[in-house]
Amino acid sequence: MSVVTQVPDPDRLRLMAVHAHPDDESSKGAATMARYIDEGVDVLVVTCTGGERGSILNPALQGRPEIEANIAEIRRNEMVRAREILGVHQEWLGFVDSGLPEGDPLPPLPEGCFGLVPVEQGAERLVRQIRRFRPHVITTYDENGGYPHPDHIMCHKISVAAFDTASDPDAFPDAGEPWQPLKLYYDIGFSRHRFAALHAAIIEHGLESPFEELRKRWQERADTDQREPNMTTRVLVGDWFERRDAALLAHATQVDPNGWFFQVPLAIQRAAWPTEDFELVRSLVESTLPEDDLFAGVREKVDQ
Ligand SMILES: [Zn+2]
Repeated sequence: MSVVTQVPDPDRLRLMAVHAHPDDESSKGAATMARYIDEGVDVLVVTCTGGERGSILNPALQGRPEIEANIAEIRRNEMVRAREILGVHQEWLGFVDSGLPEGDPLPPLPEGCFGLVPVEQGAERLVRQIRRFRPHVITTYDENGGYPHPDHIMCHKISVAAFDTASDPDAFPDAGEPWQPLKLYYDIGFSRHRFAALHAAIIEHGLESPFEELRKRWQERADTDQREPNMTTRVLVGDWFERRDAALLAHATQVDPNGWFFQVPLAIQRAAWPTEDFELVRSLVESTLPEDDLFAGVREKVDQ
Protein backbone atom coordinates (compact mmCIF):
# COMPACT_ATOMS: atom_id res chain seq x y z
CA MET A 1 0.00 0.00 0.00
CA SER A 2 2.86 2.26 0.84
CA VAL A 3 4.14 4.50 -1.94
CA VAL A 4 6.51 6.74 -0.04
CA THR A 5 7.77 5.08 3.10
CA GLN A 6 9.78 7.29 5.34
CA VAL A 7 10.61 7.57 8.99
CA PRO A 8 9.55 10.89 10.51
CA ASP A 9 12.30 13.34 11.40
CA PRO A 10 11.92 13.90 15.17
CA ASP A 11 13.13 17.51 14.90
CA ARG A 12 10.54 18.68 12.39
CA LEU A 13 6.96 19.76 12.76
CA ARG A 14 4.66 17.37 10.95
CA LEU A 15 1.35 17.96 9.20
CA MET A 16 -0.97 15.23 7.92
CA ALA A 17 -3.73 16.08 5.44
CA VAL A 18 -6.36 13.37 4.98
CA HIS A 19 -8.22 13.43 1.67
CA ALA A 20 -10.81 11.27 -0.06
CA HIS A 21 -9.51 11.17 -3.65
CA PRO A 22 -6.36 12.00 -5.58
CA ASP A 23 -6.89 15.69 -6.59
CA ASP A 24 -8.62 16.74 -3.34
CA GLU A 25 -5.24 17.56 -1.80
CA SER A 26 -4.60 20.01 -4.66
CA SER A 27 -7.94 21.81 -4.44
CA LYS A 28 -8.21 22.02 -0.64
CA GLY A 29 -5.36 23.38 1.45
CA ALA A 30 -2.67 22.86 -1.22
CA ALA A 31 -1.15 26.32 -0.91
CA THR A 32 -1.00 25.85 2.85
CA MET A 33 0.91 22.58 2.43
CA ALA A 34 3.30 24.19 -0.06
CA ARG A 35 3.98 27.05 2.34
CA TYR A 36 4.66 24.71 5.25
CA ILE A 37 6.94 22.56 3.07
CA ASP A 38 8.96 25.69 2.21
CA GLU A 39 9.18 26.50 5.92
CA GLY A 40 10.65 23.08 6.71
CA VAL A 41 7.52 21.28 7.92
CA ASP A 42 7.20 17.60 6.98
CA VAL A 43 3.86 17.09 5.21
CA LEU A 44 2.12 13.80 4.49
CA VAL A 45 -1.02 13.54 2.37
CA VAL A 46 -3.11 10.45 3.06
CA THR A 47 -5.44 9.59 0.19
CA CYS A 48 -8.30 7.27 1.21
CA THR A 49 -9.28 5.98 -2.25
CA GLY A 50 -7.76 5.58 -5.68
CA GLY A 51 -10.40 7.76 -7.33
CA GLU A 52 -11.35 4.84 -9.57
CA ARG A 53 -14.91 6.08 -10.12
CA GLY A 54 -14.13 9.72 -10.79
CA SER A 55 -15.61 11.24 -13.94
CA ILE A 56 -13.29 12.67 -16.56
CA LEU A 57 -13.89 16.38 -16.15
CA ASN A 58 -11.40 17.76 -18.65
CA PRO A 59 -13.33 18.19 -21.94
CA ALA A 60 -10.12 17.68 -23.93
CA LEU A 61 -9.73 14.16 -22.49
CA GLN A 62 -13.36 13.01 -22.57
CA GLY A 63 -14.59 10.18 -24.80
CA ARG A 64 -11.19 8.48 -25.01
CA PRO A 65 -11.60 4.75 -24.29
CA GLU A 66 -7.89 4.25 -23.51
CA ILE A 67 -8.21 6.77 -20.67
CA GLU A 68 -11.45 5.32 -19.35
CA ALA A 69 -9.99 1.80 -19.37
CA ASN A 70 -6.91 2.82 -17.38
CA ILE A 71 -8.31 5.52 -15.13
CA ALA A 72 -6.98 4.04 -11.88
CA GLU A 73 -3.41 3.90 -13.16
CA ILE A 74 -3.68 7.31 -14.82
CA ARG A 75 -4.86 8.87 -11.57
CA ARG A 76 -1.99 7.29 -9.65
CA ASN A 77 0.44 8.88 -12.09
CA GLU A 78 -1.32 12.23 -11.85
CA MET A 79 -0.98 12.01 -8.08
CA VAL A 80 2.76 11.32 -8.35
CA ARG A 81 3.17 14.51 -10.37
CA ALA A 82 1.00 16.59 -8.01
CA ARG A 83 2.85 15.47 -4.91
CA GLU A 84 6.17 16.30 -6.57
CA ILE A 85 4.94 19.80 -7.36
CA LEU A 86 3.71 20.34 -3.80
CA GLY A 87 6.75 18.63 -2.27
CA VAL A 88 4.67 16.42 0.03
CA HIS A 89 4.92 12.77 0.91
CA GLN A 90 1.85 10.73 0.16
CA GLU A 91 0.30 7.40 1.17
CA TRP A 92 -2.77 5.56 -0.10
CA LEU A 93 -5.18 3.94 2.35
CA GLY A 94 -6.25 1.57 -0.42
CA PHE A 95 -10.04 1.94 -0.34
CA VAL A 96 -12.17 1.97 -3.50
CA ASP A 97 -13.89 5.16 -4.69
CA SER A 98 -17.68 5.13 -4.15
CA GLY A 99 -18.42 7.39 -7.11
CA LEU A 100 -20.83 10.30 -6.74
CA PRO A 101 -24.33 8.78 -6.78
CA GLU A 102 -26.71 10.63 -9.08
CA GLY A 103 -30.42 10.27 -9.77
CA ASP A 104 -33.72 10.45 -7.95
CA PRO A 105 -33.96 8.29 -5.96
CA LEU A 106 -30.21 7.96 -5.50
CA PRO A 107 -28.88 4.53 -6.50
CA PRO A 108 -27.27 2.37 -3.78
CA LEU A 109 -23.50 2.68 -3.37
CA PRO A 110 -21.46 -0.01 -5.14
CA GLU A 111 -20.52 -3.00 -3.03
CA GLY A 112 -17.14 -2.80 -1.32
CA CYS A 113 -16.70 0.93 -1.82
CA PHE A 114 -15.18 3.31 0.75
CA GLY A 115 -18.54 4.89 1.58
CA LEU A 116 -19.75 1.51 2.93
CA VAL A 117 -16.64 0.59 4.93
CA PRO A 118 -17.22 0.30 8.70
CA VAL A 119 -15.74 3.41 10.35
CA GLU A 120 -13.55 1.23 12.61
CA GLN A 121 -11.93 -0.42 9.62
CA GLY A 122 -11.12 2.88 7.95
CA ALA A 123 -9.95 4.39 11.24
CA GLU A 124 -7.57 1.47 11.86
CA ARG A 125 -5.75 2.05 8.55
CA LEU A 126 -5.50 5.75 9.28
CA VAL A 127 -4.34 5.16 12.87
CA ARG A 128 -1.52 3.04 11.42
CA GLN A 129 -0.44 6.04 9.32
CA ILE A 130 -0.74 8.43 12.27
CA ARG A 131 1.35 6.19 14.53
CA ARG A 132 4.02 5.86 11.87
CA PHE A 133 4.23 9.50 10.69
CA ARG A 134 3.44 11.04 14.11
CA PRO A 135 1.77 14.25 12.93
CA HIS A 136 1.37 17.19 15.31
CA VAL A 137 -1.53 18.55 13.24
CA ILE A 138 -4.13 16.75 11.11
CA THR A 139 -6.55 18.29 8.61
CA THR A 140 -9.69 16.67 7.22
CA TYR A 141 -13.23 17.61 6.10
CA ASP A 142 -16.20 18.66 8.20
CA GLU A 143 -19.25 16.46 8.86
CA ASN A 144 -20.76 17.51 5.53
CA GLY A 145 -17.63 16.42 3.71
CA GLY A 146 -17.06 19.99 2.51
CA TYR A 147 -19.00 18.68 -0.46
CA PRO A 148 -21.61 15.93 -0.17
CA HIS A 149 -19.71 13.00 -1.67
CA PRO A 150 -20.02 9.74 0.33
CA ASP A 151 -16.22 9.34 0.29
CA HIS A 152 -15.72 12.83 1.72
CA ILE A 153 -18.17 12.13 4.52
CA MET A 154 -16.46 8.80 5.27
CA CYS A 155 -13.09 10.58 5.17
CA HIS A 156 -14.41 12.93 7.88
CA LYS A 157 -15.68 10.05 10.02
CA ILE A 158 -12.51 7.97 9.95
CA SER A 159 -10.30 11.04 10.51
CA VAL A 160 -12.15 12.07 13.66
CA ALA A 161 -12.22 8.47 14.93
CA ALA A 162 -8.50 8.05 14.21
CA PHE A 163 -7.58 11.35 15.88
CA ASP A 164 -9.52 10.31 18.96
CA THR A 165 -8.02 6.82 19.23
CA ALA A 166 -4.42 7.03 17.91
CA SER A 167 -3.07 7.72 21.42
CA ASP A 168 -5.07 4.95 23.08
CA PRO A 169 -2.92 1.82 23.56
CA ASP A 170 -6.05 -0.32 23.81
CA ALA A 171 -7.33 0.86 20.43
CA PHE A 172 -5.97 -1.00 17.40
CA PRO A 173 -3.03 -2.54 19.35
CA ASP A 174 -1.60 -4.03 16.15
CA ALA A 175 -1.43 -0.67 14.37
CA GLY A 176 1.75 0.68 15.96
CA GLU A 177 2.91 2.63 19.01
CA PRO A 178 0.33 5.12 20.32
CA TRP A 179 0.78 8.72 19.20
CA GLN A 180 -1.12 11.81 20.31
CA PRO A 181 -1.71 14.37 17.55
CA LEU A 182 -2.21 17.84 19.05
CA LYS A 183 -4.67 19.61 16.76
CA LEU A 184 -7.42 18.61 14.34
CA TYR A 185 -8.77 21.00 11.73
CA TYR A 186 -11.54 20.92 9.17
CA ASP A 187 -10.54 22.35 5.84
CA ILE A 188 -12.88 25.17 4.73
CA GLY A 189 -12.00 25.17 1.07
CA PHE A 190 -15.02 26.76 -0.49
CA SER A 191 -16.68 29.16 1.88
CA ARG A 192 -19.52 31.44 0.95
CA HIS A 193 -17.43 34.36 2.21
CA ARG A 194 -14.52 33.52 -0.04
CA PHE A 195 -16.72 33.24 -3.13
CA ALA A 196 -18.48 36.50 -2.28
CA ALA A 197 -15.15 38.32 -1.87
CA LEU A 198 -13.76 36.93 -5.14
CA HIS A 199 -17.00 37.67 -6.97
CA ALA A 200 -17.00 41.31 -5.79
CA ALA A 201 -13.32 41.75 -6.71
CA ILE A 202 -13.85 40.36 -10.23
CA ILE A 203 -16.81 42.64 -10.87
CA GLU A 204 -14.81 45.58 -9.57
CA HIS A 205 -12.11 44.81 -12.14
CA GLY A 206 -14.72 44.83 -14.91
CA LEU A 207 -14.35 41.10 -15.59
CA GLU A 208 -17.06 38.52 -15.94
CA SER A 209 -17.54 36.51 -12.74
CA PRO A 210 -17.61 32.71 -12.95
CA PHE A 211 -19.26 32.65 -9.52
CA GLU A 212 -22.79 33.83 -10.32
CA GLU A 213 -24.14 30.28 -10.51
CA LEU A 214 -22.03 29.03 -7.61
CA ARG A 215 -23.21 31.85 -5.39
CA LYS A 216 -26.81 30.89 -6.06
CA ARG A 217 -26.07 27.31 -5.08
CA TRP A 218 -24.37 28.50 -1.90
CA GLN A 219 -27.38 30.61 -1.07
CA GLU A 220 -29.60 27.55 -1.47
CA ARG A 221 -27.33 25.63 0.87
CA ALA A 222 -27.35 28.48 3.35
CA ASP A 223 -31.14 28.25 3.38
CA THR A 224 -30.96 24.66 4.62
CA ASP A 225 -30.01 23.67 8.16
CA GLN A 226 -26.40 23.07 7.25
CA ARG A 227 -24.10 24.61 9.82
CA GLU A 228 -21.85 27.46 8.75
CA PRO A 229 -18.19 26.51 9.28
CA ASN A 230 -16.43 28.42 12.04
CA MET A 231 -13.41 30.07 10.43
CA THR A 232 -10.97 29.93 13.37
CA THR A 233 -7.76 29.92 11.38
CA ARG A 234 -6.68 31.76 8.23
CA VAL A 235 -3.26 30.93 6.81
CA LEU A 236 -1.74 33.55 4.51
CA VAL A 237 -0.77 31.65 1.36
CA GLY A 238 -1.19 34.00 -1.63
CA ASP A 239 2.44 33.47 -2.66
CA TRP A 240 1.79 29.76 -3.06
CA PHE A 241 -1.26 29.99 -5.38
CA GLU A 242 0.86 29.17 -8.45
CA ARG A 243 2.02 25.92 -6.84
CA ARG A 244 -1.56 25.07 -5.86
CA ASP A 245 -2.78 25.59 -9.43
CA ALA A 246 0.13 23.64 -10.95
CA ALA A 247 -0.61 20.70 -8.64
CA LEU A 248 -4.29 20.78 -9.50
CA LEU A 249 -3.55 20.90 -13.24
CA ALA A 250 -1.38 17.79 -12.79
CA HIS A 251 -4.65 15.93 -12.18
CA ALA A 252 -5.34 16.44 -15.86
CA THR A 253 -8.33 14.08 -16.16
CA GLN A 254 -10.05 15.66 -13.15
CA VAL A 255 -10.03 19.37 -13.93
CA ASP A 256 -11.11 21.58 -16.75
CA PRO A 257 -8.12 23.90 -17.27
CA ASN A 258 -10.58 26.51 -18.54
CA GLY A 259 -12.96 26.03 -15.59
CA TRP A 260 -13.85 28.58 -12.93
CA PHE A 261 -11.04 27.51 -10.63
CA PHE A 262 -8.48 28.97 -13.04
CA GLN A 263 -10.48 31.95 -14.31
CA VAL A 264 -9.76 34.40 -11.54
CA PRO A 265 -6.39 36.12 -12.06
CA LEU A 266 -4.05 35.28 -9.19
CA ALA A 267 -3.39 38.97 -8.49
CA ILE A 268 -7.12 39.43 -7.84
CA GLN A 269 -7.21 36.30 -5.65
CA ARG A 270 -4.21 37.52 -3.66
CA ALA A 271 -5.83 40.92 -3.09
CA ALA A 272 -9.35 39.67 -2.32
CA TRP A 273 -8.74 36.42 -0.41
CA PRO A 274 -5.07 35.58 0.17
CA THR A 275 -5.72 32.86 2.76
CA GLU A 276 -6.76 29.26 3.07
CA ASP A 277 -9.12 28.76 5.93
CA PHE A 278 -9.64 26.12 8.57
CA GLU A 279 -11.82 25.30 11.55
CA LEU A 280 -10.05 24.13 14.69
CA VAL A 281 -12.11 21.30 16.19
CA ARG A 282 -9.74 19.55 18.62
CA SER A 283 -6.76 21.01 20.42
CA LEU A 284 -4.51 19.77 23.19
CA VAL A 285 -2.46 22.99 23.19
CA GLU A 286 -3.12 26.62 24.09
CA SER A 287 -3.69 29.04 21.22
CA THR A 288 -5.61 32.26 20.84
CA LEU A 289 -8.41 32.39 18.25
CA PRO A 290 -8.47 33.53 15.54
CA GLU A 291 -5.17 31.98 14.47
CA ASP A 292 -3.00 32.44 11.38
CA ASP A 293 -0.92 29.28 11.81
CA LEU A 294 -1.97 25.62 12.06
CA PHE A 295 0.95 25.11 14.45
CA ALA A 296 -0.02 27.95 16.83
CA GLY A 297 0.55 26.58 20.33
CA VAL A 298 2.23 23.49 18.89
CA ARG A 299 5.58 25.19 18.12
CA GLU A 300 5.92 26.23 21.77
CA LYS A 301 5.08 22.77 23.04
CA VAL A 302 7.37 20.91 20.64
CA ASP A 303 10.30 23.30 21.34
CA GLN A 304 10.23 22.60 25.08
ZN1 LIG B 1 -12.98 14.12 -3.69
